Amino acid sequence: MEPIQKGIYRHFKGNVYEVVSLARHSETGEQMVVYRDITDSAKCWVRPAAMWQQSVTRDGVSIPRFTYLAPVQTRVYDISQELFSCCVYPGDPAPTREVLCSFDTGSPYHLTAFSMCAHNGTHIDAPYHFIPEGKTVDQLSLAAMVGPCYVAEYCGCVDGAAMRAIWQRAAQSDPGAAARILIKGDAYLSEEGAAVLREAGVLLYGNESQTVGPEEAPMAVHLMLLGAGVVLLEGIRLCDVPEGTYLLSAAPINLGGAEGAPCRAVLLER
Ligand SMILES: [Zn+2]
Repeated sequence: MEPIQKGIYRHFKGNVYEVVSLARHSETGEQMVVYRDITDSAKCWVRPAAMWQQSVTRDGVSIPRFTYLAPVQTRVYDISQELFSCCVYPGDPAPTREVLCSFDTGSPYHLTAFSMCAHNGTHIDAPYHFIPEGKTVDQLSLAAMVGPCYVAEYCGCVDGAAMRAIWQRAAQSDPGAAARILIKGDAYLSEEGAAVLREAGVLLYGNESQTVGPEEAPMAVHLMLLGAGVVLLEGIRLCDVPEGTYLLSAAPINLGGAEGAPCRAVLLER
């Protein structure tokens, strides 16, 4: 028998699974296969390796129980909010939608129009949000919003010491990832924390809140970061993402002349 390798397999009944590791039974030493449903990582099972490699008979034909398909796919974390149920910053208009044509009313197609504030849900803030001569969304280099990043877990006020410790952890794990810092948790950035980011020359800072500073007084932190050309990524969702380095893709919609724009932000495991 060939050794079982990690990867994507199809069960003879059609479902597709990922072999995440090989293990041994703690009592008998028997080799086991640990595998999960590729559409739901919470569904995880073990099965004896010998059984994994057995053939089954179907319609009189002997076929493998599991067939190897491909190497393991890169895990993708969607860190965006759904738009129509998203968080709205106090005072901003909420998204609305209008169904222009619908199957329900006999139309042969479905057509939607919608309106939103550029800062609804998961979005990018460009410097022009607070800096009159700052860049607008269409003038931003995508390099700031697409590249290695570091996710750090923190709750409360991210002061200077906290941000310095986070940035150092990021730089130690991958100097490239330290250019883009994302904070997981109910956190807000202080002016001292913003100064650390500015001095470190980060390209992008993101957090789960709809703003980066204290919600009642976010202006000073915005001025410090946007004034230094740091792009902000607000309203992300990191509850499923462990701390560590990832590849970030958070390119905004190309809204000419706008100070912000929504994005479908994702993290790719590295
Ligand atoms: Zn914003």
